[in-house]
Amino acid sequence: MEDIIVPSAAHLPLSLDSLEGIDRILEKLSPSSAAPLPVSNPTVPIWSAAPDSNPLAREGSEGDFTTDADVCIIGSGISGISAAYHLSNLARQEKTSLKVVVLEGRDFCSGATGRNGGHLTPSLFNSFGHYVQMHGVNGARRTVELENQTVKDIIDLVDEGGWASDIELVEGGHTKLLFTKNELGCMRSDWKAAEAAGIDLSATQWLTNKEMDAKYGTPFPGIHMPGYNLWPLKLVTKLYQHAGRASTPSRFLPAFFTRPGPFSLTLHTHTPVTSVTAIPDAPEGRRWRLSTPRGDITTSYVLHATNAYASHLLPQMIGKIMPTRGQVIATRSSVPISDFKLTSSAWWANEGFEYFFPKLTKSADEHPLVVIGGGRESAAPGFEFNVADDSTVNDKVGHTLRSFLPCVFPGQFETGQEPELEWTGIMGFTKSMDPFVGPVPPVGDEKYAGAYICAGFSGHGMTRAFKCAQAVAEMIVADMRGEKWETPSWMPEWYLTTPSAS
Ligand SMILES: Cc1cc2nc3c(=O)[nH]c(=O)nc-3n(C[C@H](O)[C@H](O)[C@H](O)COP(=O)(O)OP(=O)(O)OC[C@H]3O[C@@H](n4cnc5c(N)ncnc54)[C@H](O)[C@@H]3O)c2cc1C
Repeated sequence: MEDIIVPSAAHLPLSLDSLEGIDRILEKLSPSSAAPLPVSNPTVPIWSAAPDSNPLAREGSEGDFTTDADVCIIGSGISGISAAYHLSNLARQEKTSLKVVVLEGRDFCSGATGRNGGHLTPSLFNSFGHYVQMHGVNGARRTVELENQTVKDIIDLVDEGGWASDIELVEGGHTKLLFTKNELGCMRSDWKAAEAAGIDLSATQWLTNKEMDAKYGTPFPGIHMPGYNLWPLKLVTKLYQHAGRASTPSRFLPAFFTRPGPFSLTLHTHTPVTSVTAIPDAPEGRRWRLSTPRGDITTSYVLHATNAYASHLLPQMIGKIMPTRGQVIATRSSVPISDFKLTSSAWWANEGFEYFFPKLTKSADEHPLVVIGGGRESAAPGFEFNVADDSTVNDKVGHTLRSFLPCVFPGQFETGQEPELEWTGIMGFTKSMDPFVGPVPPVGDEKYAGAYICAGFSGHGMTRAFKCAQAVAEMIVADMRGEKWETPSWMPEWYLTTPSAS
């Protein structure tokens, strides 16, 4: 690690060392108005452009509308559908009846999850020093534990279900490129802090610029670590289908949850929730009324898995979760797979602003298609914070994305080549970059009993949302049984919206 030299990156078409600037802006940002609903005409991401890639796109958007449920989940991204998946498992374990309804404003999984960069790489040491400072060594360890557990659980599930080829899962590791001495210094100190805390870093490998040049055809040094990429929409589709599989009759839960009948899961897409209101003295525990253009639905529990849009329905989240636009292009290499050098399955660069990976190729003469996102640093000073419209793109960001690969991997991409596809998606950023998980925080006397939130993954949700959603599903079931939920050892306690039971 000590031999690593960073060559000048001044020629790159990038703003370097922008992270500090972005952190300061994030700290100051406090939008005073609620997020809008997702726009109805979003750009088309590569994940849903392919025919038949979203079989659930319009599921339940027409015909009968469900008017009553035990649990309503708002949002069909990885958070909402993971929660449905965990609720289905819990209901089956308890052999209880549970009626779960998912309400989605647009196509199935058309939010950040359906438009993201496709990376599933746990953070083993990134920002570790910051977490130690904020939450102590044990807290910092929990952040790694959560991400490792999330990835392990997802991969186990994919293996059990035999889904790997359907969701194009690739385990090829993840390489982080280092462009400045400052970046190298931060990575070194985070890596050392994680090593000192006992994090297993044996699978990480520091690569000098000579090694990187020989292996990948780029003059910059890097760090290689374990990681995957996949087709996020297809993973979430599998999760939904798995959750909805055959079910069992009721037994253990209190009377109003144990009407006879199996676990059921219903999806209504193109059904935006426009308000959630408390029902005073609710019959049968139906505490919430969710209004939609198709009618109302009453429910005992409501989970806000609405990510960037959370404050549209929850005023207390205004300024807590900020819509932030990310942009991605899919661009083809100028060389066929036989001469292609980006053989690490996934990449990060420039303090994480840029992230990219080559999609799987089908034949030896195919020129690989690379999915690359980022470029927000070129949108300073706003960095695309408070932008909730994914129907348009930012030209400055697009320019950075188009210029990046030809400069960083000379000879592998043609300068000035137009991408095959360009799209945007809306992330939900929080000031701490960590999500809100648990009961919806009360406002004054309003207690929000039975309302939960799992949102605000700040551009890094694939390795956190599945387990955070598990925590919320367990909280809901514990509440149904009148039990206290115990914080698992993998959960960073500060993600929780209320102090935990343990
Ligand atoms: C461009 C981009 C690239 C990214 N790349 C990566 C990456 O490579 N790796 C990674 O780990 N993370 C990445 N992320 C972040 C990751 O995608 C998110 O953290 C994660 O998908 C969040 O999942 P979610 O289910 O919480 O939110 P979403 O997927 O946004 O789901 C929320 C859903 O709620 C729906 N909704 C909102 N309000 C309402 C309402 N009132 N009524 C009904 N429905 C509503 C939305 O339409 C949406 O479908 C990226 C994000 C973006 C935008």
